[in-house]
Amino acid sequence: MSDLYRNIPKMDKILEKDEVQSRINKYGRDFVLEVIREHLDTIRENITKNIISRIDEEEIINTILYKIDKENKSKFKKVVNGTGVIIHTNLGRSIFSEELSKEISENLCSYTNLEYNLDTGERGHRYDHIVDIIKKITGAEDALVVNNNAAAVLLTLKTLASGKDVIVSRGELVEIGGSFRIPEVIKESGCNLIEVGTTNKTHLKDYRNAVNENTGAIIKIHTSNYKIVGFTQDVDTNELKTISNERNIPLIEDLGSGMIIDLYDYGLNKEPTVRETLDRGVDVVTFSGDKLLGGPQCGVIAGKSKFIKEIKKSQLLRALRVDKFTIMSLELTLKAYQNLDTLPLKIPTIRMITEEEEDVKIRAEKLSNKLKSLNSYKINTELIRTKSMIGGGAYPLDNLDSWGVKLILKEFSEKDLEEKLRSNEIPIIVRIIEGFVVIDCKALLEKDYDIITSALKRIIGESND
Ligand SMILES: *Cc1c(COP(=O)(O)O)cnc(C)c1O
Repeated sequence: MSDLYRNIPKMDKILEKDEVQSRINKYGRDFVLEVIREHLDTIRENITKNIISRIDEEEIINTILYKIDKENKSKFKKVVNGTGVIIHTNLGRSIFSEELSKEISENLCSYTNLEYNLDTGERGHRYDHIVDIIKKITGAEDALVVNNNAAAVLLTLKTLASGKDVIVSRGELVEIGGSFRIPEVIKESGCNLIEVGTTNKTHLKDYRNAVNENTGAIIKIHTSNYKIVGFTQDVDTNELKTISNERNIPLIEDLGSGMIIDLYDYGLNKEPTVRETLDRGVDVVTFSGDKLLGGPQCGVIAGKSKFIKEIKKSQLLRALRVDKFTIMSLELTLKAYQNLDTLPLKIPTIRMITEEEEDVKIRAEKLSNKLKSLNSYKINTELIRTKSMIGGGAYPLDNLDSWGVKLILKEFSEKDLEEKLRSNEIPIIVRIIEGFVVIDCKALLEKDYDIITSALKRIIGESND
C-alpha cells in the first residue's frame, strides 16, 4: 500500500505538463490546483479503501484534464426536444427565433436608448419602447411588462386591492407549475382571499353576494392546465363586468398563456384572445411572454390607463422590472404579430402549433432516412403517428396530430437508450411509447437531425457485435 502512495504523481510534476500549463493560462492557477488536489485526495482515499491496486500516471493526468475541462463547460446547455411538447416548461418553454435573435444580439452589444428619450435628450422610461406595440395588438389603453406572469398578478393585486378582499371562484383556485398557487399569491399581495361558488359551479349570485364595501377586486383566473368537465358552470366575463360597474370594483383577469391570435382557426378549442378579453370590459389582464406568445420570459399587464398608471407608480415594480434583453426580444416578438403571413416564420411556437400534420411527417421521414444512412443492422426505425402537446399549461385537452420516429435497437432496453441519449454531449430528450424510445418530431429543429444521427452512431458503435 505504501508503494501505491509513493507512486502518486507529485503536484510539481503534474504542473510541469504542457497540457496542464495551457489549462492554467486559460482558467487560472488556483482553479487548476484545486481540481488536481481534489483528484489526488480521491486517489489516496481509494488506496485506503483498497479500491486501487496500481497507479497509472498518464491515466491520472488525463482524468485531471478531463475534470478541468468538464468543470469549465457551461452547465446550462442546449438540448434536443424529442418530447413533442412545444412549450416544455422544463426545457425552457417557447424557443426564440434565430432570425429575431440576430437583431437582438446587435443591440445587446451596444449602448441603447433603454431609458433615454432621443427626442428630448432627457431621461426616458424603459417601458415606453413596448407600450405602443402592446396597445396596437391587444387594443389596451396602456400596458406594462414585468418579470413573469406571476409577478404581473402579484403586482396588479397588490396595487389595486392590498388590504382588501379579492373575490375568486373556487373553480379557479389553481396551482400552476408546482410553485404558483393562486391562494398564496393573493395572500402574498396583502389581499384577503374570498372564495365563492364550488369547485364545479359558480353562479353570478355567488359573486354578487360576496361583494361589500371592503371588496378590492374581482379576479378571474384561466385554469390553464386543467379542465372541469361535466356538470359545470362559471360566470361569463360580461356578467362579472356588470357587478364591477355597479359597485365600481376593478375586474382583473389572469389569462395565463395569453393568446394574440385565435387558434380556433387552426382546429383548437375556442379560447378568448387578449383583445377579446379586454373588449368584454376586463379592466386589467395579465399573461406570460414565453407561453403561447412565443417570446421571452415576462409578464404583460395590459388594460385601462387609470389602473395601469397606478401600477406603474408601485415601488414593487422596481423589484420586478425587466431588463433590456427582455424588452428587445418582446418588442420584436410582438411586432411579428403585425403580419400574420410571416408570423409562423418568425415565432417557432406559432409555427409548430399551426403547421400541417404533413409538415411533421416530412421531418420524421427526413430523420428516419438519416438514421437509415447509418446502414447498421443494429438500428431499425419506424415512422409512427403520435399525439403532441402544446404544453406550458395551455390547452390541456387538445392534442396535435403528429409524427415520430420509433427507435428499435436490439442491444439496449428503452430505459438504457433513453438514458444514453439524455447523457449525450448535446442531450436528446425523448418519449417512451409502449416500451420503445420515440423521437417525436413536433418540436424538432433543422439542426437536430445531425445531432441525433451522430449520437446514435456513437451509441451503436459502443455496443458489442
Ligand atoms: C402560467 C401561468 C401563470 C404563471 O405565469 P409565469 O409567466 O410562469 O409566471 C399564472 N397564471 C396562469 C393562469 C398561468 O397559466
